[in-house]
Amino acid sequence: MSRVFNFSAGPAVLPEPVLRQAADEMLDWQGTGMSVMEMSHRGKEFISIHAEAEANFRELMDIPSSYKVLFMQGGAIGENAIVPMNLIGRTGRADYVLTGDWSKKSAKEAATYGQVHVAATAAASKFTAVPSQSEWKLDPGAAYVHICSNETIGGVQFHWTPDTGSVPLVADMSSDILSRRIDVRKYGLIYAGAQKNMGPSGLTMVIVREDLLGHALAITPSAFNYQLQAEADSMYNTPPTYAIYVAGLVFRHVKKMGGLAAMEAHNLAKANVLYDFLETSSFYRNPIAKEDRSLMNVPFWLNDESHNDAFLKGAEQRGMLQLKGHRSVGGMRASIYNAMPIEGVQALVQYMKEFESRHG
Ligand code: PMP
Repeated sequence: MSRVFNFSAGPAVLPEPVLRQAADEMLDWQGTGMSVMEMSHRGKEFISIHAEAEANFRELMDIPSSYKVLFMQGGAIGENAIVPMNLIGRTGRADYVLTGDWSKKSAKEAATYGQVHVAATAAASKFTAVPSQSEWKLDPGAAYVHICSNETIGGVQFHWTPDTGSVPLVADMSSDILSRRIDVRKYGLIYAGAQKNMGPSGLTMVIVREDLLGHALAITPSAFNYQLQAEADSMYNTPPTYAIYVAGLVFRHVKKMGGLAAMEAHNLAKANVLYDFLETSSFYRNPIAKEDRSLMNVPFWLNDESHNDAFLKGAEQRGMLQLKGHRSVGGMRASIYNAMPIEGVQALVQYMKEFESRHG
């Protein structure tokens, strides 16, 4: 068996020890004679898996007890509707900051449930930079301010936390959760699909400050009502049990590797290998403002796009997969989440140099 360097944007590479443990436990989880997939979510075995996953997630992210952690379904696109259904009702209005495709999608979906105001947009820079907060026009009567902390397609990331005063800050952290330390206390709500840094798709994590519960619009489906899910310990409906189990193994693994401070150092070192090379190259380019470059998703373009297919084919022959950029922007994209080893990024840069010397 040989494992490739998988640069997919998500579902994405997972830590090999986690996959091995899941494989070992597939038919018989800890002497129960059952796979986790076959267990009742109400049985003591699964309840212990769920409780350990939540405890480790809370510890990793240093989540205060005044916040609920919900294990939900529907993905981040689901949350684009679920967030406003639950939160916008307080005042009927919300601010959105647009830094790329994902935050634009969030704003569009929210407009079904209330009045959406674009507080800032990166349109002027063609979505290559985060607008500085001095340019934001925040509405003090907004129910919340929404950002996407890392634009997975555009490769633009917040490296600072906006100050929204008493208006709760909501962040889509799908593609950078668990990649670095953040101060949860500065947010009202954080959501993230699991399939980049946490585990398989099908699980969506929500961290919500308790005082924001209880404002759901009457149309909110009960399975998507944060308060009902919080009261039921995320078991109002059957949760995605197997995905929670694997995410729990990932949380344990990340703790063992030194937690989020260690992830941050590892991710910075990896991203630097790639960005340092891109800066010196006249064959490839990355147009993102240096201070806003994503440490997770690195889009880059060959100046001569006629070499794209040859570039991808050569990468594949060397065991480097899923480097094709998102269909909406073209070019290339290297997603280098927590579980991507630095050797993968070094191999990519080595290949990029070779390709350049052959075609440059
Ligand atoms: N937001 C961000 C930042 C994402 O990267 C993605 C998925 N790539 C989504 C939202 C949508 O996630 P899903 O398809 O799981 O709903």
